[in-house]
Amino acid sequence: MKEKPRKSHILTLILIPVLVVFLVMQVVACSFDVFGTKDKNKDDKLEITILDVGKADAILLRTANHTVMIDSGERDHEQGASAGFLVDYLTEQGVVALDYLIITHFDRDHVGGAAVIIENFDVKAVIVPDYRRESRHYLRFQAAMQEKGITAQVLASKATYDFYFDGVEFTVYASHQEFAEYIVHDEEEDDEDYLDRQHQDDDNDDYIAARDLPNVNNFSLVTSISHRENHFLFTADAKAARIREILATPSITEKDYVFMQIPHHGNLNRRSLEFINAIQPSFAVITCSHKRPPDVEIIDALADIGANVFLTADGNVYLESDGLRIDVSQ
Ligand SMILES: [Zn+2]
Repeated sequence: MKEKPRKSHILTLILIPVLVVFLVMQVVACSFDVFGTKDKNKDDKLEITILDVGKADAILLRTANHTVMIDSGERDHEQGASAGFLVDYLTEQGVVALDYLIITHFDRDHVGGAAVIIENFDVKAVIVPDYRRESRHYLRFQAAMQEKGITAQVLASKATYDFYFDGVEFTVYASHQEFAEYIVHDEEEDDEDYLDRQHQDDDNDDYIAARDLPNVNNFSLVTSISHRENHFLFTADAKAARIREILATPSITEKDYVFMQIPHHGNLNRRSLEFINAIQPSFAVITCSHKRPPDVEIIDALADIGANVFLTADGNVYLESDGLRIDVSQ
C-alpha cells in the first residue's frame, strides 16, 4: 500500500517540470509572435503591391503584422500626379506605420516621394545605399529624416541586412561599389531625358558612367524575400555591372525565384537576357509607363521562358503568397 502514493508522488515530480517546460515554451512562442518573428503556424500571408507610378518604383509589402516599402518614386509627370498619390494609397490601405522603408538608390523615380512618406507616416527605419547625391529630392529626403529623428541604416559596399517578420525573411544586398558623391543640378533633374542620357554607359562592367563617376543605378539595393517555398527578387535599377554582382551571389542564385522584378524598368543592357535566363521566374513585373515601355528583347526573353509578365503601365500589380502558392492579379 505504501508503494502507490510514492509512485504518484514520483509521477507528480516528473509531471511538474514537464508542465513548467511546456508552459515556458508557450510563453516564448507567444513572445515571438508579439515581435513578429519565428511563427509559422498562423495566418502568415504575404501581400505585395507593385504600384502604378509610371516609370518609377513604389512597392508595398505587408506581412500579418508588419509593413515594408521598397522605394517611393513619384508618379510620372506625364500622369499629372505626385507623391500625394502614394500618401493617399497607403492611407486607403490603412497603413499608419512602415517598419522599414528601403530606398534602393537616389534617382527621383525611386526617392522622389520618400520625404512625403516620412512626413506622413510613422517610418521606423530607413535603409539606403552608401553614396551621396546632391539633388533637391535627395536633400529633401535627408531633411525629412532629420526632422523625424531617423538615422538611416547605410549599407556599405557588399553589406547585407536581414530582417524577419511573421514567417517572411527579407535580405537586402548592397552593391560592391565603394562610396561616391554626385552633384546634380535641379534643372537636370527636371529634365525627363536626363536619366536616359546619364545611362548611355550602362553596359560598362567597370561601372564608370558619364563624368568619370560610377553609374548610380549600379548602387541599387537588391531585396530578396523568402516566404517558405516562395522566393521574390526585387532588383531596382540594376544595370550590367550590378547584375554581374547579383549573379555572383550564391545566396541569391541558389534560390528558385517564383517572382522577379525586371531591373531598370525593362531597359535592355547586355546582361539583361543572361539575368532572366538565370533566374527563370514564373512571374515577372516591369515598372514602366505606356510612354516608356520596356524593350522588346526583354519581353521576348520572358516569353521564351514562359513567364507571366505584368506591366505597371496597365495598373497596380497585386501578389498574394501563402508560403506555397502565389496569386498575381492586376
Ligand atoms: Zn528607376
